[in-house]
Amino acid sequence: MSDEGCVFCKIVKGEIEAEILRDEDGVLAFRDINGRAPVHVLVIPKEHISSLAEVGNVPDGVAKRIFEVAQGVAEGEGIAESGYAFRINNGPDAGQEVFHLHAHVMGGERVRMP
Ligand code: 5GP
Ligand code: ZN
Repeated sequence: MSDEGCVFCKIVKGEIEAEILRDEDGVLAFRDINGRAPVHVLVIPKEHISSLAEVGNVPDGVAKRIFEVAQGVAEGEGIAESGYAFRINNGPDAGQEVFHLHAHVMGGERVRMP
């Protein structure tokens, strides 16, 4: 189910352009529009889930697929060996801006918290 007005649902539906790297088994990976590392990709479930607070709604298998797609993106981008951060911001104190669950895959340089 998609959510009216959700920017990532619009990317899933092709209503907003994005540089899509992977599209498989309910999961989409695309470049962050405002990349903050040489490689900065977002990995999302295609189904609208607002945040980790709704993890119970993530379909069976999709969470594992998000990890697999993240690792696949890292391999494809040549950063699997140099390393990368896999990060999910959840709620206000983490600075979550888009309320459609997404994991940031960041690498190509030293990336540290926060
Ligand atoms: P958050 O802070 O919610 O974890 O991260 C949201 C991310 O989504 C930000 O890094 C932001 O640059 C990215 N973003 C927001 N709108 C768009 C968009 O329309 N297209 C793409 N590709 N990324 C977006
Ligand atoms: Zn959405």
